[in-house]
Amino acid sequence: MTIDRSTPDLGSLYQEVILDHYKRPRNRGQVEPHDADVHMRNPSCGDEIRLQFRLEEGRVAEIAFTGDGCSISQASSSMMTDLVKGRTPEEALAIARRFTEMMHGEEEAATDKALGQSRVLKGVSRFPARVKCALLAWDAFQEGVKQTRGEAP
Ligand code: ZN
Repeated sequence: MTIDRSTPDLGSLYQEVILDHYKRPRNRGQVEPHDADVHMRNPSCGDEIRLQFRLEEGRVAEIAFTGDGCSISQASSSMMTDLVKGRTPEEALAIARRFTEMMHGEEEAATDKALGQSRVLKGVSRFPARVKCALLAWDAFQEGVKQTRGEAP
């Protein structure tokens, strides 16, 4: 089976932003010391993320990721880390919920400015097979918040 790592056609402007994050990912690397350390995969596409972050004074002080995958998963990871940095976990989780709604095709969620640049990924919702690629980083973040609260297994 071949893995399709191509970028779905989302329009050229969106494509450009996605490829920019893919080629020059923000916040790539590791965080030491960290409060959360999550490893997640998206088997349907082969994407992988390791996400680490540290909380200071109730905010995400530092966050970084490593891993490999398609342009959508990598761009989404880059955008996610940019978006949650400096926010409280509660604020960040609210954005995660909005992003998930947008990925499930909710038009109203896609107009939420809190989603910042990640709104360029809206079009991915038209490609159900790729939605998990875009959600991987956010799922990892949500798992990380559970770790910081002692809720993770
Ligand atoms: Zn993918």
